[in-house]
Amino acid sequence: MAEIRIESVTKAFGDKVAVDDVSLTVHDREFLVLLGPSGCGKTTLLRTIAGLGMADSGRISIGGRDVTYLPPGERQLSMVFQSYAIFPHMTVRDNIGFGLKMHGEDEAAIARSVDEAAELLHIEELLERRPADMSGGQRQRVAVARALAMKAEVVLMDEPLSNLDALLRLEMRAELKRLLADIGATTVYVTHDQIEALSMGDRVAVMRDGKVQQIDEPNVVYDSPANRFVGSFIGNPPMNFIDATIDLAADGSARALVGEHEIVAGAALSDHVTAAATDRLVVGVRAENMHVTVEHSEGALPATVQVVEPLGSQNLLTVLVGDSRLKVSTHPTFPAKPDQELWLRFPPEQLRWIDPATERVIYG
Ligand code: ATP
Repeated sequence: MAEIRIESVTKAFGDKVAVDDVSLTVHDREFLVLLGPSGCGKTTLLRTIAGLGMADSGRISIGGRDVTYLPPGERQLSMVFQSYAIFPHMTVRDNIGFGLKMHGEDEAAIARSVDEAAELLHIEELLERRPADMSGGQRQRVAVARALAMKAEVVLMDEPLSNLDALLRLEMRAELKRLLADIGATTVYVTHDQIEALSMGDRVAVMRDGKVQQIDEPNVVYDSPANRFVGSFIGNPPMNFIDATIDLAADGSARALVGEHEIVAGAALSDHVTAAATDRLVVGVRAENMHVTVEHSEGALPATVQVVEPLGSQNLLTVLVGDSRLKVSTHPTFPAKPDQELWLRFPPEQLRWIDPATERVIYG
């Protein structure tokens, strides 16, 4: 069992609180991704788990063992960090086998593990070369191979694919996911690439300003963001946000209006709007979740097409609805041209209602 439990961990550098009272549990054999913009504290949190930086307060345990004050070597984990510290003048074979040798494994077992890891990372032909004269992407794969060869129960990785070209990166992310599942490692993986996060993680923890905003399965983080930041950080294009006015009738029923157009009404909306005690809400909706028509239909909003971007499998439209600029995806054959008038319908079940004061999703 290698569950990682992080309890109220805080880490500051001078005045800058890099990790702010974070608590989370990475389940045994789970692949957890830490995702967030540059500077949000992902690397600092990972380094704290690794023991490369000590938490100012809080507690970290791995497999039930309190490791808060243990040096990295005693935490029984393997890691790949951005500055993948491989030895430039040692052969790739010796680099990959280094950790195993330190653990006193016998020569034959080391050779087997090294060959296996090299094959998985497609670097067999590099085994006798030295990293000093290899590309960044090749060196990065050596670092990943070294981490995998250890077959540790806990693997920590910080942007391990960042130096690979796009195609290799695509291939490696699936390979790595499979490998780590095969090894049965509990993995914490840092990235700022949301596609990588969604595609690899069993769960994704989205961070901002040292705090975890949401931790959930990828489809939940995408479909049901906890707040406006998560909706805007995840997804390409990001979630659309539209200001709506809430019209509460004397009988307690509510209607949501964008401009003078009613987009949704109903009892459930009324309850939540009353709870939020505001007549203004922000509606969040994904580009693929609006219904677009050329003809007007009941409850549709008028929109003017600004830009049409054909992306192969879909067309991405930029449209203006009142003052709001929205991204709308359509079938590639949908007829849309700049300056054209279209109609958008908002299926109520696809809408996320955000309180502008707290930016939290309060309903939907
Ligand atoms: P990136 O993706 O750019 O690496 P990150 O999310 O991993 O970003 P961290 O590297 O954890 O972010 O940094 C979080 C904050 O702490 C940043 O404001 C950073 O400037 C600061 N910080 C990190 N390490 C140090 C350090 N050794 N000394 C001073 N400040 C630091």
